[in-house]
Amino acid sequence: MRIADIQSHIDHELVSKPQIEELIRRVAAQVSQDYAGKDLLLVAVLKGAVNTMTALSQALTIPVQLEFMSLSSYGAGTQSSGTITVRKDLDCSVRGRHILIVEDIIDSGRTLRWLVDELNSRGAASVEVFALLDKVSRHEVQVDVKYPGYVIPDEFVVGFGLDYDERYRNLDSIAVLKPQEYQDQGEQS
Ligand code: 5GP
Ligand code: MG
Ligand code: MG
Repeated sequence: MRIADIQSHIDHELVSKPQIEELIRRVAAQVSQDYAGKDLLLVAVLKGAVNTMTALSQALTIPVQLEFMSLSSYGAGTQSSGTITVRKDLDCSVRGRHILIVEDIIDSGRTLRWLVDELNSRGAASVEVFALLDKVSRHEVQVDVKYPGYVIPDEFVVGFGLDYDERYRNLDSIAVLKPQEYQDQGEQS
């Protein structure tokens, strides 16, 4: 689905499909170089990071293992609380493995901070991060991002995996919806 297909719902586009593709190509080339000859495990958090995981993994030139985790962060409205519950855990041990966390977006940074600490405590050999989008002005905790994506303003975005109330994940770029679309604020995870 493209912006043009849902024009009446969209306020503005923030990151275009070509911009996403360019970033993914650049990061994939760097990751392929950095992990050449190493055993790399990509870990993505469902469901928002699925598109980024698919795009990045296909653009790599090295073989990797793909694993998924489902986390929920309970908080009111569009705020993440920092209290993380594991809804679906990884299918494998990370002990001694090199891990790259593939994330959709960093907001407060609490989800990522928790995940980095968790994987390190499980004995990973290394834990690095790629995040497609980063709301730098919203960070509440410090996270080191080895492969940074696009810095975006403090606006609630949808597309390329990101939802509003489980919709718009299949938009192929990143956009902000019209204000009237954000009526009922449910739990965000
Ligand atoms: P954090 O723990 O960094 O505050 O929140 C990260 C998670 O909150 C993201 O992985 C995503 O699921 C959700 N989130 C944060 N900002 C946005 C946004 O602008 N749009 C959408 N759809 N989800 C967001
Ligand atoms: Mg996420
Ligand atoms: Mg969500």
